[in-house]
Amino acid sequence: MLQMEDIKSYTLKELEDLLREKAYPKFYAHQIFNWIYKKRVENFDLMTNLSKEARGFLKNNFYFSHLKLIERETSEDGTEKFLFELDDGHRIETVLIPEGKRVTLCVSTQVGCKFKCRFCVSGISGFKRNLRTSEIISQYLEVAKRIGRITNIVFMGIGEPLDNFDNVVKSIEILKEPHGIYFGRRRICISTLGIIPKIEKLRELNLGVKLSISLHSPDSKVRTFLMPATKKYPLQELMKAVKAFAKYERYPITFEYIMIRNLNTKKEDALKLVKLVKGINCKINLIPYNPSPYFEWKAPSIQEIEVFKNILKKCKIFFTLRKPRGEDIKAACGQLKATFKD
Ligand code: SF4
Repeated sequence: MLQMEDIKSYTLKELEDLLREKAYPKFYAHQIFNWIYKKRVENFDLMTNLSKEARGFLKNNFYFSHLKLIERETSEDGTEKFLFELDDGHRIETVLIPEGKRVTLCVSTQVGCKFKCRFCVSGISGFKRNLRTSEIISQYLEVAKRIGRITNIVFMGIGEPLDNFDNVVKSIEILKEPHGIYFGRRRICISTLGIIPKIEKLRELNLGVKLSISLHSPDSKVRTFLMPATKKYPLQELMKAVKAFAKYERYPITFEYIMIRNLNTKKEDALKLVKLVKGINCKINLIPYNPSPYFEWKAPSIQEIEVFKNILKKCKIFFTLRKPRGEDIKAACGQLKATFKD
């Protein structure tokens, strides 16, 4: 007898294996995916193209978990922040960023974060637990049900996605599944501070998703100061892993670069950055720091941004300057926060 399991934590392959083991036809898994993710039906009794026995089996062994929407805030710029409560009472945030035809959902992967980067509110209260696969998928389902079309998904919310590797990979497999949501793999992006063994594992899995690296400084010392956890993953080693990933996937890697006044915005930083990424198929995403009461950092001056940008431009490094989004509702980069029940 199985323990009651959350059906939205099962990939198609896992469901097929289980059904085959219980002597049900494998194609039932396709039908179940179709009911849950295409027709959005969460009642096994309504899955009428399955046999009565199969529906009974599902009812006795599976349940549908739900995220409870506690609050939905809308920024002046159209960004939305959703506060969800999990089954055990912890709370996480998910952000929706509409921009022209592009509607990007930023999902969380952990309740809190253990890495405590010195510019990010998510790490301040520490770490509680990993999100289950179903809790990651449900962020998409709950928001899509309310707003409709979502064109891109970024794993950049609360938590380090590669620290919850298995559940993140399973959620991507479910998102991509043609019998279900069928979300384009190139429209999914995982962001990481650079956990090298997991980047290598991700490449081996050949998921086809995009990769974004939180770089924030081309100088090892400054980088380790900003993100103490990166001490374990030296910058030169990280760049080797990233180059291998870029070569294999053949699409640009994004390097995230939070610009903090008087810290990583000097002319020398820009020149060092150019040298570091030279030869890699990449894009630099410059993100002016969003001031937060938790940290003393300041946003870069306009002049700092201009000088930095001009060096990248002159050296033919492709970059974008991210407009701050959702600052007024604390939904911008580095501002998301989990709330623990206790
Ligand atoms: S930037 Fe990412 S890894 Fe660092 S504390 Fe925030 S959520 Fe955690």
